[in-house]
Amino acid sequence: MIDEKTLTEPKKVTPKHMDVFDLIIIGAGPAGLSAGLCAGRAGLKILLIEKTLPGGETSTACLIDNYLGFPGGVYGEDLSERMENHLFHYEIHYTCETVEEIENSSNKEKIIKTDLGNIYKTKAVILATGLEPQKLNLAFEKKFLGRGISYCAPCDSFLYQDKTIAVIGGGNCACYAADYLAQFASEVYLIHKSSDLKAVKSLKNRILNNPKITIMWNSLITDAFGIENVEKAKIMNTQTNQHTWIDIKGIFIYAGRVPSKKLYGLDLKTDEKGFLITDEYMRTSV
Ligand SMILES: Cc1cc2nc3c(=O)[nH]c(=O)nc-3n(C[C@H](O)[C@H](O)[C@H](O)COP(=O)(O)OP(=O)(O)OC[C@H]3O[C@@H](n4cnc5c(N)ncnc54)[C@H](O)[C@@H]3O)c2cc1C
Repeated sequence: MIDEKTLTEPKKVTPKHMDVFDLIIIGAGPAGLSAGLCAGRAGLKILLIEKTLPGGETSTACLIDNYLGFPGGVYGEDLSERMENHLFHYEIHYTCETVEEIENSSNKEKIIKTDLGNIYKTKAVILATGLEPQKLNLAFEKKFLGRGISYCAPCDSFLYQDKTIAVIGGGNCACYAADYLAQFASEVYLIHKSSDLKAVKSLKNRILNNPKITIMWNSLITDAFGIENVEKAKIMNTQTNQHTWIDIKGIFIYAGRVPSKKLYGLDLKTDEKGFLITDEYMRTSV
C-alpha cells in the first residue's frame, strides 16, 4: 500500500482570464473529478469549473455505504475530500465560478463565459453538471428557505438537534436523509406521496424499523406556517383528502433530482425531461 503522506501536496492552479485549454470540465462532482483525473494523467491542459465545492452531491450525501472499497461506509464529505485530493496531485487549473454560457464558436474552439465575467477558451468541453433538487414549487418553499426549509441534511442537521422535523420524499435520497437526521432530531416525519418506499431494501428496512421515524403514507405537504421560521406543516392524505397540521421545526425536501434547466445557450438535444441525449461515446448533439 502506498503511504499517502509521501505523495506531493495537492495543488490547484488558478486560471487566467482568456486562457486557452485542451479541455474544460464543468462541474466537480464525482463525474467531473473522474474526468479530470483521466485528462490529468493524459497530460492535457485542463480547467475544472465548479460553482460550489468539489464533490458535488456526494458532499451532501450522508453515509455512503455502497462504494466499493469502503466496507462500513464513508461519509459523503470525507469521500469528496479524498476524491479532490487525489485529483489535485495532477497540475489542474481550478476555479470556483458558475458557467453561464458556452459559445460554440468553431469546431476547434468553444468559449466559456462565467458569472464573474471571465472568459476561457477550450478545444473541448465535458458537461458534468449533475442534477439539482426538484423543487416543490409551493409558495412556502421560497418563503422559508434557510428558515426551516432545506435541501441538504448533512449541511443543516445541527440546527435540529432534539427537534421534530419532516423529510419530504420516499426514494433513496429521502430515506438516507431521514435515517441520518433521526440521529439528531427527536422525531422525523417522512411524508411520502405513495404507499411504498422506493429505496434499496436494506435502507427501507432501517427506516421501517427506526422508532424515531413516522411515515405518513399517501401524503403531500401543501403548506407551512410560522412567524419567523417554520412551525407547522399542512399535510394532505391523498386517499381521504383529509388535512392534518403537524408541529415541526424543519422541512427537508428530497422530492427527486432533475437536470438543470439551463443548458448554457447551446442548442443541445435533450429528452422531454431535460436529460442530455448522447451517443454511445457520450457525445452531445454539438
Ligand atoms: C442526499 C444524497 C445521498 C446520496 N447517497 C448516495 C449513496 O449512498 N450512494 C451513491 O452511490 N450515491 C448517492 N447519491 C448520489 C450521488 O451523490 C450522485 O450520483 C453523484 O454525486 C453524481 O455525480 P455527478 O458528478 O454526476 O453530479 P453532481 O455530484 O451533482 O456534481 C455536479 C456538479 O456540477 C456543479 N455545477 C452544476 N452546474 C454548474 C455550472 N453552471 N457551473 C459550474 N458548476 C456547476 C454542481 O455545483 C455540482 O458540484 C446521493 C445523493 C444525494 C443528494
